[in-house]
Amino acid sequence: MNIVRVALDLPLPTLFDYLAPDAVESDVGRRVTVPFGKGLRTGVIVELATASEQPDAKLKEVAAILRDMPALPAEWLALCEFCARYYQTPLGEVTSFALPPMLRRGKLPRIKKPAAKIAVSPAPTFDAVHQPPLPQLMPAQQAAVSAIFATAGFHVMLLHGVTGSGKTEVYLRAIDAVLARGGQALMLVPEIALTPQLEGRVAARFPAAHVVCANSGMADAARARGFLEAHAGRAEIVLGTRLAVFMPMPRLQLIIVDEEHDASFKQQEGLRYSARDVAIWRAHQSDIPIVLGSATPSLETFHHATTGRYQMLELPERAVADAMPVVRIVDTRREKLQEGLSAALLAGLQSRLDRGEQSLVFLNRRGYAPVLACPPCGWISRCRRCAANLVLHLADKRLRCHHCGFETAIPRACPDCGNVDLLPFGRGTQRLEAMLVERFPAARVLRIDRDSASTPKKWQALLATIHDGGADILVGTQMLAKGHDFPLLTLVGAVGADAALFAADFRAPERLFAQLMQVGGRSGRADLPGEVLIQTEYPDHPLYRALIDHDYARFAQSQLDERRIAGFPPFSFQAMLRAEARTMEQALAFLAAARKAAAAIADGVTLYDPVPMRLQRLMTLERGQLLVESPSRPALQSFLTAWMEQLYALKMPGGLRWHLDVDPLEF
Ligand code: ADP
Ligand code: ZN
Ligand code: ZN
Repeated sequence: MNIVRVALDLPLPTLFDYLAPDAVESDVGRRVTVPFGKGLRTGVIVELATASEQPDAKLKEVAAILRDMPALPAEWLALCEFCARYYQTPLGEVTSFALPPMLRRGKLPRIKKPAAKIAVSPAPTFDAVHQPPLPQLMPAQQAAVSAIFATAGFHVMLLHGVTGSGKTEVYLRAIDAVLARGGQALMLVPEIALTPQLEGRVAARFPAAHVVCANSGMADAARARGFLEAHAGRAEIVLGTRLAVFMPMPRLQLIIVDEEHDASFKQQEGLRYSARDVAIWRAHQSDIPIVLGSATPSLETFHHATTGRYQMLELPERAVADAMPVVRIVDTRREKLQEGLSAALLAGLQSRLDRGEQSLVFLNRRGYAPVLACPPCGWISRCRRCAANLVLHLADKRLRCHHCGFETAIPRACPDCGNVDLLPFGRGTQRLEAMLVERFPAARVLRIDRDSASTPKKWQALLATIHDGGADILVGTQMLAKGHDFPLLTLVGAVGADAALFAADFRAPERLFAQLMQVGGRSGRADLPGEVLIQTEYPDHPLYRALIDHDYARFAQSQLDERRIAGFPPFSFQAMLRAEARTMEQALAFLAAARKAAAAIADGVTLYDPVPMRLQRLMTLERGQLLVESPSRPALQSFLTAWMEQLYALKMPGGLRWHLDVDPLEF
């Protein structure tokens, strides 16, 4: 009997068997349409079989094996299987996620004619006349490029260097070498917003190469086409966000993960994978080098690079500006701030204005104020669906929940007592913008956050304005921190950073350091030195002291020491079971039952008590979590695999949903 075993996008940890009289071995890795329930579904054939555990009478026949595109290679299926295993997610959910939506639905993009545009030759020929001369590599860059190819096969390197130290130049040289050998290169970047400019730089460097982008913002057909180009080996370079790690690439010879510390490499819903970690597994599978690049590596990566598991490649100098920005601490304990800004920062802004230079005030909180309140009766603007405040947005006169998206008009009077004098509390980017406009009437103030840069087009327009010198003072969130050169920017002021020093999440200081280092890195160039002013009530905090010295390693070591003592990653491995239900009791009861079920199999792992999540209610659902920890990754993995079977068997009240997050980043 000819049976195909199919991965379907269903929340069940199993494959589905179908009769397929005409299936042949080469159909493994093909998409297939099958009857399921009352309708049809598309999945991927994972293997052929001659017998099924299902009774024969129950087996249905496939509707159609889709042979209109080449089968997905065994390596691709193996990558998906690894993710399914490691992240405890049904294989069908993984394969479905790994395919572009159009292919997932069983369709194919129309092929653009003429096909002549596609570069068939794997070795691009360069137009020497129109290529600007390449910069002479600095010795550390040269050493890095050599290290990438010094040994054949799998090895992980950390390319550690501040913004402007020439990391991208190293990537480009390495890609060049790969193209010259007829290989394909995969480069992952944190955010969609960063791809256009990198794409431009890559396309300019390799005019004859076929570069394909992959991110969730692309039109369906374009994304599917890119996937097929990579799969066929015609695309030499794939550039994309985390989902690009699933692009099939038959001649893959190099993987680069830029800004490897960035949290956006970890997906927070559905398949909760870390694209960086999956990329490392993939490099191992393909037996090729992988380069992780960052100015502020994740502590996990840094730990591996200092203990010899990864190779450390340092770029100690900036390629362009000859000096790092000067970082100064502004002690705000004894100062009366003006709308949150210190005299030192205000003076700094004024002097930049006088000199025709740009400044940036960095505040990682968008909106006008985090909450609107009625002081007489104590009413505050709260989300009806979440355990969170509604943020006041004056720009379009709305109250908005930053967690669930709920929004409503600003009430004219207090809904509880009728008082008309409602007050905004706290400060967001809009309020800062308003204050700066008032304080510096001649200045052109530009706000950059997810509200003002809500579409890629708006974002590009804002960047262009900054570049063209069309703004004097920028007010922005961490959006501004990443990957942009602002040649006129010479002052960065950081406001409200202290909150992260004492946050409940043990990764908060690591993120703060990375953000401040990154925003600071935006300022200054050779002829215009940069300055960073950090307003704080903790001027002696080691994090800020390390920042003054630009000493990431010192900061990282002190954090690692704390984590070692506390037994946190990278000295342990974690997974989080989360449950959401109509009531907190139900959520916690489920987690308690899950914990009880684990007792017999919890060998070498620690299970903590179920607790409410920090954002306790989201979209009207109450949420709880249960942390599992182990000093051994294999021990955690085998525990999780056994536990999952029990979890699937647990009784659940109606409306309860749960998921497991392996290597969680958010607490
Ligand atoms: P990073 O990726 O670390 O921020 P880049 O590779 O983008 O650094 O380099 C910063 C700037 O310096 C770019 O404009 C780049 O073209 C230039 N650059 C890089 N390496 C060199 C070099 N060896 N000589 C001269 N300029 C360089
Ligand atoms: Zn909400
Ligand atoms: Zn009131």
